[in-house]
Amino acid sequence: MNKDHRFACCRLLEPPISHSMTEFVAPTIEVAVAMPVRGTFTYGVTEPLVSAAVPGVRVLAPFGRRRATGYILGPGGAPGQKDIKPILDVLDESPVFPASMIPLFRWTADYYKHPLGEVIQAALPGGMTLFECAAFSITEKGLHQLKGGGLAELESRVLDRLAHARLRAPELRKQVGQEVPGTLLAALERRGLLVRQVMLRGGAAKPLQERWVRARGAAPADGLSPKKRAILETLVAAGELPVSELTARVPRAAAHLRALEQGGRLEIFSRRLYRDPFGEPIPPDGAPLLTMAQDAAVRNVCSALGKGFRTFLLKGVTSSGKTEVYMRVAAEAVATGHSALVLVPEIALISQTERRFRARFGEQIAVLHSGLSEGERFDQWTRILRGEARIAIGVRSAVFAPFSDLGVIIVDEEHDASYKQEGGLHYSARDLAVVRAQQLKAVALLGSATPSLQSYYNVRTGKYTELALPQRIEERPLPDIRVVDLRQRRDLRGPGRFISDELKHAMAETLSRGEQALLFLNRRGFASFPVCAACGSSLRCRHCDISLTLHQAANAYRCHYCGYSRPATAGCDACGSSKIKRLGMGTEKVEAAVQALFPQARIARMDHDTTRRKGSILSLLKGLRERTTDVLVGTQMVAKGHDFPAITLVGIICADLSLSFPDFRAGERTFQLLAQVAGRAGRGERPGQVILQTYNPENFNIRAARDQDFEAFYEKEIGFRKALGYPPLARMIQLRISGRDPQRTRQSAERLGGCCRSLKAADPENFAALDILGPAEAALARIAGHFRWQVLLKSLNGGALHRFMDRLIAEHSQAFAARSERVVIDVDPFFMM
Ligand code: ADP
Ligand code: ZN
Ligand code: ZN
Repeated sequence: MNKDHRFACCRLLEPPISHSMTEFVAPTIEVAVAMPVRGTFTYGVTEPLVSAAVPGVRVLAPFGRRRATGYILGPGGAPGQKDIKPILDVLDESPVFPASMIPLFRWTADYYKHPLGEVIQAALPGGMTLFECAAFSITEKGLHQLKGGGLAELESRVLDRLAHARLRAPELRKQVGQEVPGTLLAALERRGLLVRQVMLRGGAAKPLQERWVRARGAAPADGLSPKKRAILETLVAAGELPVSELTARVPRAAAHLRALEQGGRLEIFSRRLYRDPFGEPIPPDGAPLLTMAQDAAVRNVCSALGKGFRTFLLKGVTSSGKTEVYMRVAAEAVATGHSALVLVPEIALISQTERRFRARFGEQIAVLHSGLSEGERFDQWTRILRGEARIAIGVRSAVFAPFSDLGVIIVDEEHDASYKQEGGLHYSARDLAVVRAQQLKAVALLGSATPSLQSYYNVRTGKYTELALPQRIEERPLPDIRVVDLRQRRDLRGPGRFISDELKHAMAETLSRGEQALLFLNRRGFASFPVCAACGSSLRCRHCDISLTLHQAANAYRCHYCGYSRPATAGCDACGSSKIKRLGMGTEKVEAAVQALFPQARIARMDHDTTRRKGSILSLLKGLRERTTDVLVGTQMVAKGHDFPAITLVGIICADLSLSFPDFRAGERTFQLLAQVAGRAGRGERPGQVILQTYNPENFNIRAARDQDFEAFYEKEIGFRKALGYPPLARMIQLRISGRDPQRTRQSAERLGGCCRSLKAADPENFAALDILGPAEAALARIAGHFRWQVLLKSLNGGALHRFMDRLIAEHSQAFAARSERVVIDVDPFFMM
């Protein structure tokens, strides 16, 4: 094995050697290639790679005219086949994922209709895939020609750039300042003026090494300088130390180490260092006495550990102590020789859950989330893989954490939309958690105060076992929720329009008692609906069918879908007037209003705009915990899982924002969000109150949230779903077609819809009961310059739906392979717009 390739970064390779295929009789392996291709491939392995080619290691394999990263899944098909090519290299000394995960990868690829190699690539931490790319260099002849002249304008600009450096195509384009056609490059290559070289890039993540020292022999002999003596004495006392620690104890020790090593008095060695992803240290915490309900839940789950697959749904009201249940179950899994995986919603890189697990379990914990650097992720992955961390906490992608002996997978706030991955491999981490538990004969424990309709339906149909924590810890009351009708304030101007007298008074009281208030509005920015005062047209994004939002802090209008931005001084597109009315509200406007009403209050805002910087969420939450913040204004980020005892007032500025979305889950989302936000109030000793402002006080979902009545919400909502044939009763696959040209995109969508209909017509026996809806223009008809269409496939029979989709891909592959339009297959779609 050639170790140098392992973490090759931008390394030039020799062109692939062509082996004589017919001679090939050596062992074969099944390889999934990290490329957009379906199925797996059989490759051969020749000496000296044979012993290293085990399942779970990465290989470099010839693929078409290129080389690609692949993953060994197991033995390949029959050897002696004619067209088997040998792999070029093995890239790892040991597997990067356990073989027990291969069935999970296969299931995922199959179910979500995604290339297997790309599933594995998506599961592994970033920076582990080598990919090939071309770079161009100028030749001697090219240099001559450049000096001599006689080149076309673009040709000489290209060669001029290459005379300075070897460049990849995108770099070249940037430097030349315009598109460089491939034909032009090919022509220059044919004329011998430049050469094209193939390089491997990526694969840069590597372990971090730390230098350590230990003394050789016992007490230091004489004849040494005082400094050297001090070094040796320190080492003899300590055993061994990192060099950094030694220099902290003996200043400037590093300068003497080499000489001491040469004198045979000490040994310098390196040790694998795990980058510390944790912020500040967390004081350890002991386990409290469980409440009766917690105890019952813990016993129930623990008695199922190690006895086969089972799924529990822990339905506990907000602040009922679900996290404590998770910790006890995880501890029991570890005590019985298994490991435990805990999934938390996206925002949880800072969540209380992670904090509490770390306080309880310390170094046994690995964390996997988007706040880690590539290197840190790689380290955490390795700790899990080696069995050094027995418990992992992470966001959705952590469902692929490389454990080989999982006893339990816990999914906290299982209803949360952030478990759904959009883009690339589309999947639901909650659903995969259950599948993985099933494959491993392990326990899945899903928890929420507001379970998804899907999971509660599974309880009702007997697939899941319900566990309930019906009361808050120490029998604290659920907050008192008062509904304020915003309709009566429509004609008011200024902050009075969206901060009612009731809310204002409640805030004044809360602040005067030295307690904290949380104000929730699920929309960021200052004004979400800027409108021209002269002609009445709204300011819209150039690239999307969306109104721009005014961001006062950035002094700009911004599009929340594509990031397009224009200065706040810009005028109306339609008539040029610079008088723009700042209609519509956002968290910035709420913050400004609160500041005007309560000039003494210390206000913080938590939304996408204030939390972009690494560490900013942590410091916002720290402000709450240490009570240097009196009022926190925020979007749905504030709804998730936080536990702050001094928050006694929650103000919901406008409960209606998500209600009118053209999405069949709009009601479910609204209920969950409102109940969760309300649940942030009164978690400490003082009771909480919630003021819920709405334009739809009679709306069923809003009333159910006010009454914290999940059962009532469920009964009514499941009735709708039944009547309309929507999930969880039916299964859906959404095909999303997008492209830059409106006509062509429409035609592609119509073609795809036609393929669906003809497939259905061709096999009525299997597919008569399958519904094909569309093609229809998406509710967000244009985003970032792309026109969007949808075809929705729906069936009460999930198996038939998947068979249909597989046949559609196999028999109508051309419908998915249009050059300029993209088709995305979203199985069990979550975001319908
Ligand atoms: P949930 O996740 O259900 O919203 P938490 O797990 O955050 O609830 O628990 C709410 C609070 O109660 C936390 O501060 C937690 O430390 C505390 N708590 C949980 N279980 C117990 C217990 N058995 N005894 C005392 N306090 C507890
Ligand atoms: Zn205008
Ligand atoms: Zn836009």
